[in-house]
Amino acid sequence: MNSEAIGPQELKEIFLHIARVMREREAELNALDAAIGDGDHGITMRGGFEAVGHQLESLPAETTLSEVLSTAGMAFMDATGGAIGVILGKMFLAGGRAVRESSALGPRELGLLLGEMERAVAGSGRARPGDKTILDAVHPASRAVNNSVPAPATLAEALARAAGAAESGAERTAEMLCRVGRASRLGDRVLGHRDPGAVSFALLLRTAADWVAGRKERQAQTD
Ligand SMILES: [Mg+2]
Repeated sequence: MNSEAIGPQELKEIFLHIARVMREREAELNALDAAIGDGDHGITMRGGFEAVGHQLESLPAETTLSEVLSTAGMAFMDATGGAIGVILGKMFLAGGRAVRESSALGPRELGLLLGEMERAVAGSGRARPGDKTILDAVHPASRAVNNSVPAPATLAEALARAAGAAESGAERTAEMLCRVGRASRLGDRVLGHRDPGAVSFALLLRTAADWVAGRKERQAQTD
């Protein structure tokens, strides 16, 4: 662990920041989904993270990384319907289990968290990489942190790599056909459109990366 690693309170703040960003991007995420689905993805993300924010605000000050993530997972699942609600909820719960022994989130813990999140997605559906799902953002993000040499030295660096890899992965879903879920019936009509879940996961990581990158500046201003 190093001084740059973050604790439970900061993880809560990151979730609250993600909730603000998802609210701002709601219409854009709905439009992505409307191209290949029912157009409610932005509503799901905004509502899900709003519920996460409310639940996290009621957690006691003395909490753990694991409890923040599992509270977020339960709140997200309770507040949303559809496949993506269950998948993201399970991912946060899996992330909570991954950091059960950790008091601070550094680059190593981020690797554990992303690895468990990937296993949760891969295990909860029939999707494999290349099937145009959230996994096409989660898988490269996990690889970027866990399989790169040299390993990222700081949390900021690890999150920047994960976010960049997830964004590239989400871009590549535009060239993929849907092989699972309702959109699989659309055949090649989905080409040219990104998978909304993959885009949201990349946005989530980018938001966390920006928050961590901006933390030093904010600390300097308040000192
Ligand atoms: Mg939808």
